[in-house]
Amino acid sequence: MGEFDLIRRYFTRPTPRAVLGVGDDCALLQPRPGMQLAISSDMLVEGRHFLSTVSPAALGHKALAVNLSDLAACGAQPLAFTLALALPRADATWLEPFAHGLLALADAHGCELVGGDTTQGPLNICITVFGEVPPGQALLRSGAQVGDDLYVSGTLGDARLALEVFRGTVSLPEAAFAQARTRLERPTPRVNLGLALRGVATAAADISDGLLGDLGHILQASGVGAVVDTSIAITLIAACAGSTCVNGQFYTEKYLDYVLAGGDDYELVFTAPPSARGAVAAAAAQAETPVARIGQIETRSGHPPIRLVDAQGDPVLRTFAGFDHFA
Ligand code: ADP
Ligand code: MG
Repeated sequence: MGEFDLIRRYFTRPTPRAVLGVGDDCALLQPRPGMQLAISSDMLVEGRHFLSTVSPAALGHKALAVNLSDLAACGAQPLAFTLALALPRADATWLEPFAHGLLALADAHGCELVGGDTTQGPLNICITVFGEVPPGQALLRSGAQVGDDLYVSGTLGDARLALEVFRGTVSLPEAAFAQARTRLERPTPRVNLGLALRGVATAAADISDGLLGDLGHILQASGVGAVVDTSIAITLIAACAGSTCVNGQFYTEKYLDYVLAGGDDYELVFTAPPSARGAVAAAAAQAETPVARIGQIETRSGHPPIRLVDAQGDPVLRTFAGFDHFA
């Protein structure tokens, strides 16, 4: 199978919305009048972002999911994406499920594959997504205000928990592992929540490198600090919701680290004023995505900008670093 066969067979699809899709030197998109384009790229490198053992279908899903998660964080509606792919070989038994996983998620969000690049090389997947958002309505990292509530969507820590099971540092009952593994391999981008939070949230980011790291970006951009209740945060690890975990049998101190700094969650962390609690609940209901209020924005009173407290409000003394590829 040659390069162009491969592109035709797996990555050439009807693009009812784009003016021109795969096959020419450029794709053509017609932005709707008055809308702004939201653009983001994310690269997945074997050994760095995924294990070589992951199924190609899950990898296709995840490659697009992490990009859609950035559109979600901005409150942008997905439109289209490009796929730059380096592959060791043109293997149909890999390409077929990869394309299926990728395009099923694309179809679910009405996001059209309009172009890309294909080359032989170590497995590397780079997607660029295009979305649209009305001017002035994009959710930014810079809008958090002192006194705002702090929220996160969905569950946190499960992806890291699954990774640690793969690494052999943790063992889990089978059902809990299956749940955690799905979170690691097939994350759900919170696109509908991001859209519903337009005009409600004051700031937002997606959690790719761990809650504290990505919250830190909001705090930095907004020039504020935050207090986070770890007793609420720890309940957000889904694998802990089972009774076996609540009674402490599988609970370890490490779980809090996974929740706060595990990475690969692809949830949203966002802020909104207390007067918007009803609107946040309505957005969560509309998006069918649970959200939890885990803290509050405060003045930035030196370092560290994030205060961790327990249920009594007493300090929880831990240090974390968000994931930094070059740290
Ligand atoms: P060019 O030489 O102009 O860069 P290519 O020959 O690399 O174009 O690609 C031919 C067409 O196939 C282009 O429209 C390109 O966008 C598309 N394409 C290449 N690889 C992919 C891919 N992995 N997924 C989707 N479209 C692709
Ligand atoms: Mg090319």
